[in-house]
Amino acid sequence: MSEEADRIWTARVLTLFPEMFPGPLGLSLAGKALETGAWALETVDIRAFARDKHASVDDTPFGGGPGMVMRADVIDAAIRAATENAADVPLIYLSPRGAPLTQARVAELAGGPGVALLCGRYEGVDERVLAARSVEEVSLGDFVLSGGEPAALALIDACVRLLPGVMGSADSGDEESFERGLLEYPHYTRPREWRGMEVPEVLLSGHHGKVRAWRLAQAEQTTKARRPDLWERYIATRKI
Ligand code: SAH
Repeated sequence: MSEEADRIWTARVLTLFPEMFPGPLGLSLAGKALETGAWALETVDIRAFARDKHASVDDTPFGGGPGMVMRADVIDAAIRAATENAADVPLIYLSPRGAPLTQARVAELAGGPGVALLCGRYEGVDERVLAARSVEEVSLGDFVLSGGEPAALALIDACVRLLPGVMGSADSGDEESFERGLLEYPHYTRPREWRGMEVPEVLLSGHHGKVRAWRLAQAEQTTKARRPDLWERYIATRKI
């Protein structure tokens, strides 16, 4: 096997709260995969790179205003340590200003050697270190978290479940939301009747072609109703 293939997909997390990891990623699918070595996790404690005797990692913003800003020199030293043996790993700052995370980007990241994730706190990070290190900014959505850690946990979770051997069935992800540019169709299981509601007849028919057609129609209907943005794109790609 080549050295490249031997390399374990690794998440490196730069944070002021290393004890938040693996957190929920230590359980269930991701936790089992972590135990068996399907992926690896390293945390870098940003505070260890503080330069003064008070171990300060932040300071007041130039220009005034509320809150504190994480110092460029401290973050830079933490980045250097985290990426020392991983120059080819994408460096991402979790930030509400970033590009919204998509399943397509998740799939790209899962297909690479891993990720290095910078978690902000307070008002965020001094802009200069983002520029100096050409950091990619990624957002979890249009809302504000108190820190980047929950966003990092979500991003890693989304990547890990795509790694080879992590999900039980290799093809269980193929029809999922976003894989075809559509949201997923609705699911049903036993009991067949619940509170007077029946399972759609076609799902009991055993006719795979009809089931597939029904599911596609449902996925299209849901996407059209709930996410006009995705629907427009889906229609456009179908015309090509
Ligand atoms: N002052 C900033 C918010 C800082 S929140 C602003 O108005 O944009 C503190 C930290 O939480 C950020 O540095 C970032 O790392 C993280 N964070 C907050 N919201 C996030 C989101 N939607 N996606 C990803 N990270 C987020």
